[in-house]
Amino acid sequence: MEKIMPNRLDRGFFMYQQEFEAKALEVLRSGWYVLGEEVSGFEREFAEYLGAKYCIGLASGLDALWIAFRVLGIGTGDEVIVQGNTYIASVMGITINGATPVFVEPDEYFNIDASKIEEKITDRTKAILVVHLYGQASNMEPIVKLCKKYNLKLVEDCAQSHGAKYGGRMTGTFGDIGCFSFYPSKNLGAFGDGGAIVTNDPKLADDVRVFRNYGSEKRYYNRVVGTNSRLDEIQAGLLRVRLSHMKELEEDKCRISQRYLKELNSPFVILPAVREKATHIWHQFVIRTSRRQELIDYLDSKGIGTIIHYPIPPHLSEAYKYLQISKGSLPITETYAASVLSIPMYNGMTEDEQSYVIDAINEWR
Ligand SMILES: *Cc1c(COP(=O)(O)O)cnc(C)c1O
Repeated sequence: MEKIMPNRLDRGFFMYQQEFEAKALEVLRSGWYVLGEEVSGFEREFAEYLGAKYCIGLASGLDALWIAFRVLGIGTGDEVIVQGNTYIASVMGITINGATPVFVEPDEYFNIDASKIEEKITDRTKAILVVHLYGQASNMEPIVKLCKKYNLKLVEDCAQSHGAKYGGRMTGTFGDIGCFSFYPSKNLGAFGDGGAIVTNDPKLADDVRVFRNYGSEKRYYNRVVGTNSRLDEIQAGLLRVRLSHMKELEEDKCRISQRYLKELNSPFVILPAVREKATHIWHQFVIRTSRRQELIDYLDSKGIGTIIHYPIPPHLSEAYKYLQISKGSLPITETYAASVLSIPMYNGMTEDEQSYVIDAINEWR
């Protein structure tokens, strides 16, 4: 069998090849390439999909994060609570604005441990950034309560959780702002970079809309010092195509994860668990093992690729040395970083490929 990669973006393209190609040609021939009908159409459809009032397309997920904190007025001297075991972009969204991340340990579902947040709240805490990591919704009920109790802003990093729900409600709609990435590998992926902010607050929506386009709502009249973070027409058009198939795409990944959960039985591997009230959209299927390097090498010898999300937690990365958080200060985060492994999971993965991965892991000794 051909080598099985951890992710195969080509499969997701070929599933709807004709529609993607027709849309790309339509936009190319339209003569309008930035902030046009495809972007406004996508913004409308994605807001509707989530049950949010407003969506504003942006250039990336990182832009969505830092612009969220910017329009919420969170910066130097402020603290933002975030889980320790996230992708570093979540943290950069905080620090680009000069604010300080305060890390909280994750729970057994790889999301922030809600019971460990309150002890980290200080006079300087302005917000909680919830990351729905790997595609599973976080424990929103206690987090929403804490935000109300301490008057904190709630921002959600939904870069991995398009369509994941908690208590029947979509991630991205619990807080002040939901931040999305449409990087090609995400569950709702574009064919290049893209991102979006969703909110129910008309003032925040307006601020983001103005901010993304040099702070300008009317051409050559600039209200604030903004940035250039616009979603292209081509990406928006292609995202509309993918969004129209989200249900099938979600079911496809769900079927793969159900097989993995049912059939993987290695005593050396801990399978991911799904929280009560939460849904998981399986952006990644993340197992844990204390013999990770051995498993990586073994699977590689069988032609199966894997990835680690993420080997170095943000507080130990060189970029955040200045925070002076020492090794050992977030033991659960650090244990996860040393033991997590993402096995192949992508739309269009064949049953034969799934069986091959399952058998290989089960035969590992
Ligand atoms: C991908 C990702 C981002 C950043 O999105 P980009 O579009 O790559 O800038 C932020 N947070 C998380 C959790 C991500 O997975």
